[in-house]
Amino acid sequence: MSKVLIIGAGGVGSVAVHKCAQIPEIFTEIHLASRTKAKCDAIAESVKTRTGITVPTYQVDADNVPETVELIKKIKPDLLVNLALPYQDLTLMDACLETGVNYMDTANYEPLDEAKFEYKWQWAYQERFKEAGLMALLGSGFDPGVTNVFAAHAMKHHFDEIHELDIIDCNAGDHGQAFATNFNPEINIREITQRGRYWERGEWVETDPLAWSMDYDFPEDIGEKKCYLMYHEELESLALHIKGLKRARFWMTFSEKYLTHLKVLENIGMTSIEPIEYNGQMIQPIKFLTAVLPEPGSLGPLTKGRTCIGNVMKGIKNGKEKKLYVYNICSHEAAYKEVGSQAISYTTGVPAMIGAMMMLTGKWTGKGVFNMEQLDPDPFMEALNKHGLPWKEVEL
Ligand code: NDP
Repeated sequence: MSKVLIIGAGGVGSVAVHKCAQIPEIFTEIHLASRTKAKCDAIAESVKTRTGITVPTYQVDADNVPETVELIKKIKPDLLVNLALPYQDLTLMDACLETGVNYMDTANYEPLDEAKFEYKWQWAYQERFKEAGLMALLGSGFDPGVTNVFAAHAMKHHFDEIHELDIIDCNAGDHGQAFATNFNPEINIREITQRGRYWERGEWVETDPLAWSMDYDFPEDIGEKKCYLMYHEELESLALHIKGLKRARFWMTFSEKYLTHLKVLENIGMTSIEPIEYNGQMIQPIKFLTAVLPEPGSLGPLTKGRTCIGNVMKGIKNGKEKKLYVYNICSHEAAYKEVGSQAISYTTGVPAMIGAMMMLTGKWTGKGVFNMEQLDPDPFMEALNKHGLPWKEVEL
């Protein structure tokens, strides 16, 4: 018997709640809270129709620790799953420490006024979680998340040392909109417009934003796509935890159309996080832009095609060089049919459910703050195959 409290009723929260409801023997009670209760109610209604499971819903401001503590005390969950925004990571970790509840999320903390993707703020909670005898699992989405587990799996079963790692994230889907982001627009644009960064021989090398690209031929008829080098948060923990790693890079595909729109928005200042005065009010242009762009959730019925996300890893096994590609392909249409969301939310919400399952079933335990690659990859890899994100591995 286990009780989970999920915070955040966006695209990812919706998938995670639907997937948890498919496994009532593990998730005996699912509670959902977010800033806007109506969004929680809409998810609860869809879950009820699809699975017959009732999900109690609540309004909460996760930036407010006392308010969140009160909600946690009322529900008394075994685990809090943070699927709100990265800005809420620290307040939710504080609320978990105050109430003695385990914590999990899918994205690392980011200060509102600075687009910085670093684990330092959350790693600083290590001692407090250890002393409280609690576990915090960071980044249980796809990337970060599954990509970290793919690396841990390769390390455990295929390599003595991994020397080169390229994480390649391809969205070969199309939603037919002139410009839209597949997850929260503000977080997405902040991430893409920052300077590129990769790990090489023990140090970080910087590039201009999206300045480097390569063509990659994706499997199963997805074909060749242009991928751009960018910084992604899992590189930081993987560079620390994967033995022998000499180079680690992250690549993402973008269409010409997407990049042209982004460039124009950037050039006219619409992606800026610097507050400006408008009609006597201070606003961040990116927040205004987020409000006018399509909600990622609305792209579900419109998106066709597939995603393909995986790790290309080169290293040594028994003194011989080896190159391995581990990947998952996910269909936007199949995800929509199953849980009413497109594949970007699906590929994040499913690993969020699996991370929660690992913690609630005791397959992953520990005291302190953990990144995904620090835990045994086997039960997680098995669960991916079982719960909608089957993976393949090929020697290149
Ligand atoms: P959405 O914007 O769709 O949803 C975010 C939800 O959080 C909304 O329901 C929002 O409420 C709620 N929220 C925001 N602020 C607060 C607050 N102060 N208190 C309570 N609730 C709040 O985002 P996504 O679902 O696309 O993304 C969710 C998380 O998943 C993000 O952290 C994102 O970075 C991460 N992510 C991780 C990926 C991975 O692979 N690891 C990939 C994609 C996303 P409201 O509806 O009122 O705005």
